[in-house]
Amino acid sequence: MSDSVYRSASMDDRMRSVNEKYEVERQKRLRRDGLSQYARISDRLPKIAYDPFNPIEQREPKRDHVTFAFVGGGFSGLVTCARLREVGINDIRIIDRAGDFGGTWYWNRYPGAQCDTASTVYMPLLEETNYIPTEKYAHAPEILAHCRRIGLHYCLYEHALFHTDVTGLSWSARDRVWHVATNRGDDFTAQYVGLGIGELHIPKVPDVPGVERFEGRSIHTSRWDLECAGSDPGGRILNELSGKRVGVIGTGATAVQCVPELARAAGELFVFQRTPSAVFARGNHKIDRTLFAATLQRGWQKRMMANFAANRSDLCPEEDLVDDGWTSISRDICARASDFGSGLDQPGAMTAAENEINFQYMENVRRRIDITVVEQATAEKLKPWYGLFCKRPCFHDDYLETFNSPTVHLIDTGGKGIDRIVETGIVAGGKMIELDSIIYASGFEAWTPYVHRLGFDPVGRKGIKLSAHWRDGVRTLHGIHIHGFPNLFVVDPTQGASLFSNITHNICSSAEAIAEIVKYAREKRARSVEVSLAAEKEWVQLILSGDRLLGSSHCTPGRYNYEGQALGRAAQLNAGYPAGASAFFDYLSDWCCSGSFRGLLFG
Ligand code: NAP
Repeated sequence: MSDSVYRSASMDDRMRSVNEKYEVERQKRLRRDGLSQYARISDRLPKIAYDPFNPIEQREPKRDHVTFAFVGGGFSGLVTCARLREVGINDIRIIDRAGDFGGTWYWNRYPGAQCDTASTVYMPLLEETNYIPTEKYAHAPEILAHCRRIGLHYCLYEHALFHTDVTGLSWSARDRVWHVATNRGDDFTAQYVGLGIGELHIPKVPDVPGVERFEGRSIHTSRWDLECAGSDPGGRILNELSGKRVGVIGTGATAVQCVPELARAAGELFVFQRTPSAVFARGNHKIDRTLFAATLQRGWQKRMMANFAANRSDLCPEEDLVDDGWTSISRDICARASDFGSGLDQPGAMTAAENEINFQYMENVRRRIDITVVEQATAEKLKPWYGLFCKRPCFHDDYLETFNSPTVHLIDTGGKGIDRIVETGIVAGGKMIELDSIIYASGFEAWTPYVHRLGFDPVGRKGIKLSAHWRDGVRTLHGIHIHGFPNLFVVDPTQGASLFSNITHNICSSAEAIAEIVKYAREKRARSVEVSLAAEKEWVQLILSGDRLLGSSHCTPGRYNYEGQALGRAAQLNAGYPAGASAFFDYLSDWCCSGSFRGLLFG
């Protein structure tokens, strides 16, 4: 029986015409230059590519030895090193380009920044640090403070090296240690090394003519200028922009959060849009921490994370312990699938439900725009015409409303993007708009080769470089281990749970596995641990046997689908565990618990 019997003919007609519209809009945005349409701010705007938050302090170079060195002081480094401390590894050194812990939350201090996943599952180690977030979706300063809390709680500041870039990493087979070199003259050794550089850490701008010619102030949202932000650490006092003509480039998740704040601060705000985001209701609220604490039982955060993953993996668990914007979508899919009842088999019911909910959510978001935005022409331009997960869904209660302000102007570029930048403003659609400041909410480098984003090329056993080992794409066991690179661990969702679930759950799961492996190696008095070539090959085949890719080629171009480019083998290898995120977390936990660490060779 077809699912169409459950729907009216008019709904089917509407779905068909909407899909045609999606294709028309997609075609407008396809472009040949794909990922290379962007440039790093360090190349085009080097003057703003510095750390505006903390001065660089002089220090003596390190020439010592540590048991574990971790590259990256965001959630990946913090959680992995916390778990290592718990298994008795004390001499741990985190190295980060930033002036403190926090990773993405160190850098992204633009006004309005907050998490989009419920803080009770997004902020890691809450139970361990005895902290309960103040809001359902915590704002950036609270998350950054939590990163520092983890650093203090686990004594991770002691050996940390901030404002430091690793420049070289090479394995010494003789001593079975890694040699670590940095741009601060450090040259030390580490028995183990972890790499956790995050998904989005290199700010980018459109590679259009004139970026460096603009004579006003240029700001990237991840290098929020404190002079503009004023003295408030939350960046809510926007001194310098007051009364000024401000342009924002981009309408992604970052812009959706900062545009309402910028609109309040600026004299006039011009929002340059290429593709509108789908902006759903946010519904943030304070958490009654006393009440919340009273309900908690040991292991609560792990249970919540597992429940979130089960919901997001469309396993339709009985409960939704998290109840945020993401799990609501999953609950609606499950409810619709169960409406289909016995008319369809389980996979068929899920697919039909996913298609229908996808369609309905996007219809709802377009209806929400009609209801909220007064001027009809502006409302039309704000409507997203693509499937639900083609781009990152956004959540905000003020963003759409902002466009009703007479001082806010939507400059829609019809899918083409801005033409160029000149000394005094931005040219879009052939029209020049004079500006005092340009704010780049244009995102971060993604999907370029890992070593390119890492900034150095690790040299493993027999002198093999990681760039050579991964020439045709990422090859790992569990996304963590690389053959030829002993005692090296990668914390990254690729070839693991992928980004289908909460990113911090990915990190927590990898961190626990790494700590267990290091503990086991110590107990066995093994000095090195490495994945066998056979196990790595087997895992790569497993990953390729599924299709757990974030984006689809049918989608409008964007980060999820490599800007609409054809997917080569390397892109196909950036996939997740075929059975889904929840199954991956269970699998990895069982693999660790079994104690045999199948696929790893200890020596
Ligand atoms: P983004 O999603 O990559 O958005 C960049 C924006 O710049 C897009 O709207 C893009 O348009 C636009 N753009 C690019 N080139 C342009 C051009 N030539 N002219 C005009 N516009 C142009 O970056 P982001 O908003 O910083 O978000 C990146 C990721 O960070 C998110 O996907 C999310 O994973 C994460 N994030 C998370 C949170 C949170 O959890 N709270 C908040 C912010 C960001 P197109 O759409 O047409 O490409």
